[in-house]
Amino acid sequence: MRQYAPDMTTSFSNLQLAPALARAVAEMGYESMTPIQAQAIPVVLTGQDVMGAAQTGTGKTAAFSLPLLQRLLKHENSSTSPARHPVRALVLLPTRELADQVAQQIKQYAVHTNLRSMVVFGGMDMKPQTIELKKGVEVLVATPGRLLDHIEAKNVVLNQVEYVVLDEADRMLDIGFLPDLQRILSHLPKQRTTLLFSATFSTEIKRLAGSYLQNPITIEVARPNETAATITQQFYSVSVDDKYNALRHLIKANGMKQAFVFCNSKLGCARLARSLERDGFRTSALHGDKSQDERLKALEGFKKGEVDLLVCTDVAARGLDIKDVPAVFNFDIPFNAEDYVHRIGRTGRAGALGQAISFVSGSDQRLVGDIEKLLKTKITLENVTVEQDRSRERREPRSDSREPRGDMRSESSGERREFSRPREGYASRDARPREHDNGRRSRETGYVPAPRVKNDPFFDKPYEATVRSTETAAPVAPDPLRKSANIKPKRVMAALFKSTT
Ligand code: AMP
Repeated sequence: MRQYAPDMTTSFSNLQLAPALARAVAEMGYESMTPIQAQAIPVVLTGQDVMGAAQTGTGKTAAFSLPLLQRLLKHENSSTSPARHPVRALVLLPTRELADQVAQQIKQYAVHTNLRSMVVFGGMDMKPQTIELKKGVEVLVATPGRLLDHIEAKNVVLNQVEYVVLDEADRMLDIGFLPDLQRILSHLPKQRTTLLFSATFSTEIKRLAGSYLQNPITIEVARPNETAATITQQFYSVSVDDKYNALRHLIKANGMKQAFVFCNSKLGCARLARSLERDGFRTSALHGDKSQDERLKALEGFKKGEVDLLVCTDVAARGLDIKDVPAVFNFDIPFNAEDYVHRIGRTGRAGALGQAISFVSGSDQRLVGDIEKLLKTKITLENVTVEQDRSRERREPRSDSREPRGDMRSESSGERREFSRPREGYASRDARPREHDNGRRSRETGYVPAPRVKNDPFFDKPYEATVRSTETAAPVAPDPLRKSANIKPKRVMAALFKSTT
């Protein structure tokens, strides 16, 4: 692999972009190129393969799409014939939100050209996508699963593709897209330019690049696994049962207006969002089981300031371009230390100050150790004083240590209320035989731990047909810090770690 020596000039005017593209860039308000743009655009303009290490938020979409559009301008035409608009560039991304975000940007850059672009992703009716595809489109942005559906239905022909972008490639491999990628790539001409972007260059990514890229130029703009110096990171030791109160307390005590709250599982995410909403926070959940419409609405609401808390999972939130999020909570410590970096990268963007707060429960120590290793930083302890909400405790009984837990039941204390009333379509849930409770219904409240539901029509809806989701349940170890039955209204919880960078 060749190493590219960056050109230090960063003004867009040095690029000699076509007037239509230069105009669009000016209208976007971009004054100078970001480092990835300064390095990648000149290389992509020459048609060479690129392997770029850059995270979302660095301007990498423009880094690949501007030169790609520039090179496609030779095909630009205003004919209405679909045959005159074959797919020339394919951009693959792991999630619907990212695909939508990237497609929107490409549309803006191409607005003054006759080049057509569109996005296809799962969770939406295929018909309108098919109609648009059949009209012809030069730049197709897609998630792998849905693209394969269209290929199999013969809605799209890819034999004239000149450019392929594998964006967030590490994430695509993480969620099991490799076989889909291999199948898609087998439909493309061998003679093409391939651009691969990834947050890290793992062995798997290098292997992928080795198979599909030809003599690529490597561009690395920031050391992967770096966290912004503007983010204050705090780690609190909180028992699983206390996390919810700690979250509410810290939001209020810090006067936070908006925050992302990360959970490890879709189910935990949905439950936490519902609890927060019931407690008066304007909350939306963003996870793989939400319909596409709901996910887009959640994002829009957050961007407009109509939503205070966006409770999300990693797959749904990675790379979302939402600026100025003042705080990020790790309600659950992520299983992958790298996800910690991605999560807290939502805040402290572009020099703004940000706060990242993580809750560490008894079984999370090893995961925190992984984060320490990755960040090469010692994480220290901190205390937090939490107001206990008596009314909540009355409404929402605490876990009883005698009652066994389902694997995701510790995600939020809201789950207990959630399971105490039947959901739509499950009117008879409480009447069904219970495998877990062994008749130990709480005498006080009637609460019974929920059985694990195998075929829940809401929660079991697939994320995308071919995705092997990583949004799995957090394994719950017995909690050594479990509350006693006599909770004092106010108390200090020991905190494990604190680190300020
Ligand atoms: P990306 O990493 O491509 O998702 O881009 C992150 C954000 O940076 C998007 O909102 C872009 O519109 C914005 N952006 C990209 N390039 C530039 C630039 N040269 N100057 C200012 N903003 C930019």
